[in-house]
Amino acid sequence: MPRIAVIDYDKCNPDKCGHFLCERVCPVNRMGGEAIIIDEENYRPIIQEASCTGCGICVHKCPFNAITIVNLPEELEEGCVHRYGINAFVLYRLPVVKEGMVVGVLGPNGTGKTTAVKILSGQLIPNLCGNNDNWDNVIKAFRGNELQNYFEKLKKGEIRPIVKPQYVDLIPKAVKGKVRDLLKKADETGKFDEVVKELELENILDREIQQLSGGELQRVAIAAALLRNAHFYFFDEPSSYLDIRQRLRIAKTIRRLAESGKNVLTVEHDLALLDYMSDIIHVVYGKPGAYGIFSQPKSTRNGINEFLRGYLRDENVRFRPFEITFTKTGERKAQEGEILVQYPRLVKEYENGSFRLEVEGGELYVGEVVGIVGPNGIGKTTFVKMLAGVEKPTEGEVDWSLTVSYKPQYIKTDYEGTVFDLLSKIDASKLMSNFYKTELLNPLGIPDLYDRQVNELSGGELQRVAITACLIRDADIYLIDEPSAHLDVEQRLAVSKAIRSLMAKNEKTALIVEHDVMMVDYLSDRLIVFEGEPGKYGRALPPMGMREGMNRFLANIGITFRRDPDTGRPRANKEGSVKDREQKERGEYYYL
Ligand code: ADP
Ligand code: ADP
Ligand code: SF4
Ligand code: SF4
Repeated sequence: MPRIAVIDYDKCNPDKCGHFLCERVCPVNRMGGEAIIIDEENYRPIIQEASCTGCGICVHKCPFNAITIVNLPEELEEGCVHRYGINAFVLYRLPVVKEGMVVGVLGPNGTGKTTAVKILSGQLIPNLCGNNDNWDNVIKAFRGNELQNYFEKLKKGEIRPIVKPQYVDLIPKAVKGKVRDLLKKADETGKFDEVVKELELENILDREIQQLSGGELQRVAIAAALLRNAHFYFFDEPSSYLDIRQRLRIAKTIRRLAESGKNVLTVEHDLALLDYMSDIIHVVYGKPGAYGIFSQPKSTRNGINEFLRGYLRDENVRFRPFEITFTKTGERKAQEGEILVQYPRLVKEYENGSFRLEVEGGELYVGEVVGIVGPNGIGKTTFVKMLAGVEKPTEGEVDWSLTVSYKPQYIKTDYEGTVFDLLSKIDASKLMSNFYKTELLNPLGIPDLYDRQVNELSGGELQRVAITACLIRDADIYLIDEPSAHLDVEQRLAVSKAIRSLMAKNEKTALIVEHDVMMVDYLSDRLIVFEGEPGKYGRALPPMGMREGMNRFLANIGITFRRDPDTGRPRANKEGSVKDREQKERGEYYYL
């Protein structure tokens, strides 16, 4: 059995573990062998896989959880595609790329999706877990595989790749100028007008890139990719910061791109969207930071269901000890109990008269999680600011003092210091509390980030820290705007669970703005639906039950969802399909 040993050198700290503790406890070393040697030059341990017996003692003894040792099935060995170095991350197998198809990729962050894309886009020649440095050997290694032909073309320079990056927030740092100029420059297909219309960019063409919101940047980045004339298109997390109507629009556009004969690969953690967009999918499993394995291609429905179950049938692999299941909305308990606040009808008109929001009166209960759904720019933030007393209503009165802890949609930070500094300044006692460790900090993987500099975190890490910062603050209401952005599915569910349990146990109330339907479903007791015309006029309905709320919300967008009979997850119906028409006729946009 091939054994891999991976050391996370960012975590390894030989001085703080009592000077190379792993080396001292290793039974092979103690018997005079050399399973662990010390690299004096770099002052770090190296595990020699050939001598290691896989006993796991070093794994358990290392105080910083820096070591992973796994035994992998024999047949994987020949699928070893790339290893970044000794005791570094290993990638097994690759996704297929097919002309005319959208291939979806589903899996945790840190399991090699970007590495695979670097290979498929020709930026990285895979070393085949040895010393390989040329494409000919890669072609040989993939002989008889669907990728052989693809790599042959890649070698000849016949494949031009285009990548829509994951972190669109970083674009303004690299690109300056007006949206129109950027897109004109990208336009190799002559489809400028079509794409601008399709992605609803008309009104922002003359804006500077620097002034765009995250949702606008996302659509500009997708448009720039679509306008290029390439063979292989990769969309890394195209959903972040988009509302659900915009998500479905980009899904259709990406599908059309594939249908025109291109190779399209997409990584997406919004499962309803991935489902809607992909022809086939690969599940990636493994251990983040240590190794990742691409599954066989699977039908979209099966692949997502197997992912949720944590078990891949064809491969006969269980990669997660538990299943992810969904409670039917009808079975959720109706909220009752203590009322936190009863708010009257409120109106807000901003001074320049450009936007008007009308809020119908309602009440919020202690201990509940209320999902807030509706398009971007419809007044969701304005509503909560009024509840918090930050914005004064134009009509109606807010005569209480509720404290609000807020996690904005776009997280910007120039904080200098570590994650631990940042969080302990907010409330050090919560970091020590067993309750917070169990309910929030450990499930979100925060202790692993304590020593990292806040301004060096990736988008997903920053998101988890920002959510934690919001939740450890004392407040009456927690307002969390788009917690899902840049998180993978498991992290989304961990965040949802943490929010639900903290609200219930601390008897607080959370309002969550979210566009990932699966997460809204998983998280919310009730919904507040916002309707209107983004940027002009918004109306907030009173909080209502999940069924009524989802129906109302989805009817506004004209899309229906059904539940997958096996896993209970929400699935978008294809427009005009039998189910879609039937459900619309009955007014059941969200099937229980
Ligand atoms: P994903 O896209 O699934 O989040 P990546 O392909 O970006 O995953 O990275 C997988 C792992 O590979 C990461 O945990 C990272 O530590 C490691 N890795 C990525 N690039 C390098 C590199 N140049 N050298 C060493 N390790 C790397
Ligand atoms: P959402 O949270 O639903 O995205 P917001 O409440 O942030 O919406 O904004 C709704 C509308 O009000 C937007 O068009 C926004 O540009 C406008 N707006 C928000 N704050 C102000 C302000 N302080 N002055 C003028 N207009 C504002
Ligand atoms: Fe110490 Fe862990 Fe690093 Fe080994 S891997 S030297 S035990 S910190
Ligand atoms: Fe040594 Fe056991 Fe660790 Fe292998 S797993 S390096 S044999 S302690």
